[in-house]
Amino acid sequence: MNTERIATSISVDQTRKRRVVGVGGIKRLFANLARCDVGTLVRVDNDTVSPTNPARQDYRSTDIGFPKTAVSAEEALAINPGVCFEMVNRDICSLNHREQEVLMEDADLLIASTDSFPAQARCNQMALEFNVPALFLGVYAEGRGGEIIIVEPKSDGGCFRCIAESRYRAFAEGRAQVSSQGGTIMDLDFVDAIAEQVGIGMITRGADNRFGRLMERLGGRNLLLTKLDPDFSIGEPDLFAQHLGSGPANFAFSTIALHRPRRPDCPDCARFRGRAAS
Ligand SMILES: [Zn+2]
Repeated sequence: MNTERIATSISVDQTRKRRVVGVGGIKRLFANLARCDVGTLVRVDNDTVSPTNPARQDYRSTDIGFPKTAVSAEEALAINPGVCFEMVNRDICSLNHREQEVLMEDADLLIASTDSFPAQARCNQMALEFNVPALFLGVYAEGRGGEIIIVEPKSDGGCFRCIAESRYRAFAEGRAQVSSQGGTIMDLDFVDAIAEQVGIGMITRGADNRFGRLMERLGGRNLLLTKLDPDFSIGEPDLFAQHLGSGPANFAFSTIALHRPRRPDCPDCARFRGRAAS
């Protein structure tokens, strides 16, 4: 892999040593991490490519029926033959504790790109227990907005459960879940691109280049909200208007970065944070 055109902004001598585990719709993201010369990519997915996938993810019609892990591996290796691509053809929620431990051993980053609440909840527990930084990304209904939650188990920042606590309540009460139904590949790519940049920042932290400085510049802000549609708002009052103003320049395609602290009553932080280390 010839990385000379990116080596001034990405510390490829570090990315080559990194192991990134991805859950859910991660094909484009993993292809781009392969371009950044990330050494090991581990994709956990038990799905095959469905007829609805090519319209909004970068699968081809000829991929329909094939395991997503295999299609993803073929693409990543065609881009960068130096990548080690591991396929785990399982639902993340079906892994027993020992299998979770093996999966997370030596992992530098866990990326959860899924609408499935049980999968998100399991990824949060695993990130906390095995001390692996994690990214949770999602696109809201109709692709009108998106979010990226950064979990750093060793920080005092909130975990996914601390930040998305209302979803745990909704799930427990059987209410409707957040879904990316209606989101297009343009929306998903926009959120993926931010997650890719933050992910590279997380695994090359401290390098003397723009991505190496990104996490320090973020300064513990762990909730990124993106407005993709001019009429999208979130919260009351609207967080975008609050931070970007309500004039015409607050249009779309913009992102705000917020800090959400650890909640003292978070059951996952109490039960899982750092458990494997103790
Ligand atoms: Zn928590």
